[in-house]
Amino acid sequence: MTSLYEQLAKPKPKHAIRIDRSTLDNYANCSFWCKAQLCAEIWARYQAKYPYGSLVEVDYSDQWWLDAFDITMGDIPDWCREVLDFDADRPRNVGVEFHRIMEEYISELLNNGEARNPEWLKQLALAGDARLQPELLHLAKLTGARISVWLPSYIAHEQQYSYRITNMGPKGEDVVLTTRLDLVQRGNNSGEIRIPDWKTGWGKDFHLQPMFCSVVTWRYIENVEHVTWQPFFCRKGTWGKRYEYDLEDLKNNELIVKQAVSQMLTEEEWAPQPGTERCRYCPANIKQHCHAEKRYGDIDTDRTAFAGATEKLQTEVASRIAVMKADCEANGPIQVDDHYWGKDVINKRPSFKRNKGKPGWLGDDEGDDDAD
Ligand code: SF4
Repeated sequence: MTSLYEQLAKPKPKHAIRIDRSTLDNYANCSFWCKAQLCAEIWARYQAKYPYGSLVEVDYSDQWWLDAFDITMGDIPDWCREVLDFDADRPRNVGVEFHRIMEEYISELLNNGEARNPEWLKQLALAGDARLQPELLHLAKLTGARISVWLPSYIAHEQQYSYRITNMGPKGEDVVLTTRLDLVQRGNNSGEIRIPDWKTGWGKDFHLQPMFCSVVTWRYIENVEHVTWQPFFCRKGTWGKRYEYDLEDLKNNELIVKQAVSQMLTEEEWAPQPGTERCRYCPANIKQHCHAEKRYGDIDTDRTAFAGATEKLQTEVASRIAVMKADCEANGPIQVDDHYWGKDVINKRPSFKRNKGKPGWLGDDEGDDDAD
């Protein structure tokens, strides 16, 4: 049997179409956004590799995507500058910087055999990018107070996992699904893997992420029969809902992920999909370019798209109302102008469930504080 370390040291696949977890999530939200983001990433990768602009070989996967978008490497800067905020001097994103700090923190825990030490994480945050303070410090305070790594269960942290699917591309190309996992641990039983994921934003909608991560991990590590994925909300210092998958679930997850991948690989339009939650986070310049605002009034030109976008908005409104109900129940009515939300109707217990009796994740400090 191959040892775990041999499995982790598998060589990186070559000559395959690479699909990262966040790329597939972006595609599920809005294919236009996904294309813009992918182009920007390809350009950043290319520049890092060939800073003087010499025309040397382009990675197979990157070239595949450029062909799919019908765009050349030279077109990217102009196209992206139009669509995205292409500012190279922008400070690192808080999420990226905090993940780097967590990586260092866990490496230190492993090397020095230290138990929980929240002060230590705060020191690392203070030494992080000064332009991102005090947010980093806030995240470190809340996370350090709750997270400790139980060494016997440790497998890996900040490690890239991948799953190669042969002949899955539209022309029989291999496809590699890949994702970087924040932390990977053994469960209480053999064959059980747990994946905590640090969340530094406010969003609670994870789209395909739990499924994607579970499938890649299941296929990467031999003899896995149960995978649990759970977010940790660093801004609140609380755990989110656990996504638990047994063997049957993992097989189903694989079918769903493959279906989404197939759709993405044969996409031709890469058209904006206004009405998705992502629109709220898109910068103004991309909205201008994709005409998202204008499309809300375009019912005569594409009635099906308009109805689809409206349905998505309805789903979002329903989930916002559920959040408001829970909040009103806990904290009382909310006044908006001359009316109140939650004054008369809400008189029930919170609808979220707690997962009591489940095994611990990270030594002595675990749970489903935010499960719903
Ligand atoms: S604003 Fe909406 S439709 Fe436009 S690119 Fe962003 S997510 Fe897509």
